[in-house]
Amino acid sequence: MLKHTRTAIISILVASSLSMGTRTATADSKLPDPATAGFAEKLYRLDCGHSLANDESVWTPGENVGRSIEFSSTCWLIRRRGEWVLWDTGVPQASLNDPKGWSTLPKLIVYHLDKSITGQLAEIGLKTSDITYVALSHTHGDHIGNVGLFPNSTILMQRVEYTWISSPDGANDNVNQLKALARKLLGTPKQLQLLDGDTDVFGDGSVTLISTPGHTPGHQSLLVHLKNSGFIILSGDVAHSEGNFEKDMVPSLNTDKAASIASMDRVRRMMATYQAKLFINHDKTQSDMLKLLPAFYD
Ligand SMILES: [Zn+2]
Repeated sequence: MLKHTRTAIISILVASSLSMGTRTATADSKLPDPATAGFAEKLYRLDCGHSLANDESVWTPGENVGRSIEFSSTCWLIRRRGEWVLWDTGVPQASLNDPKGWSTLPKLIVYHLDKSITGQLAEIGLKTSDITYVALSHTHGDHIGNVGLFPNSTILMQRVEYTWISSPDGANDNVNQLKALARKLLGTPKQLQLLDGDTDVFGDGSVTLISTPGHTPGHQSLLVHLKNSGFIILSGDVAHSEGNFEKDMVPSLNTDKAASIASMDRVRRMMATYQAKLFINHDKTQSDMLKLLPAFYD
């Protein structure tokens, strides 16, 4: 499995670098120059839950109908010159060790949480008040479940995402339910910084938010630069698994199919430009192989 995955990702890298070169870095000045980008010091993976869905075909339309699938929920913590960025906040910590679990869409998916975010931060000597920025990939409940634990952090999210969750309901009732839950979980953050597209968080190319809409209108991914590990892209939900990413599969819950495919293509081009690895939030097979706090990437 691992070997197959590596081969597939390498083929993507080669194909993309042949066709696209390094255009991504030079076309938009907000993206770092791979040769001169600054570094974050540490990248930690936090276990932010796991879930069981009863019909994988929601994420792989036309395939895997009625088959159950297990997903990971992952948060990431980045240290850069004494400041901390938390990327996504996972399943609400009130559901810790609850055998009934917690759900965003009860008929479809149930989440379980074995470790709290505050407990994992404490393992490396941190309190929630030490987190400077909480950056949100998007507003689905399994990504913003603990935003309320960080009242003094600056919340970084795309402006179109914030506007979208308060927009009138559309035809897809699952999406309407997800928006209602998002409004409830997000509340009214004290320090909210709304972003318009790609954003270099520290101005040195070490941590860059990348606009990857389609899963939701204001979805974003995150590019991190580390001294030893190089560039790493944190997916958010730009894809749910390596298989979906390789095959351009778009979940039926996504708000824009064409934008979703364009965003996956953008990530592929960036992987080529930055020789970057892609860590996929919900890919449990991949996530289980990655380092977990207190271990870290540097
Ligand atoms: Zn999502």
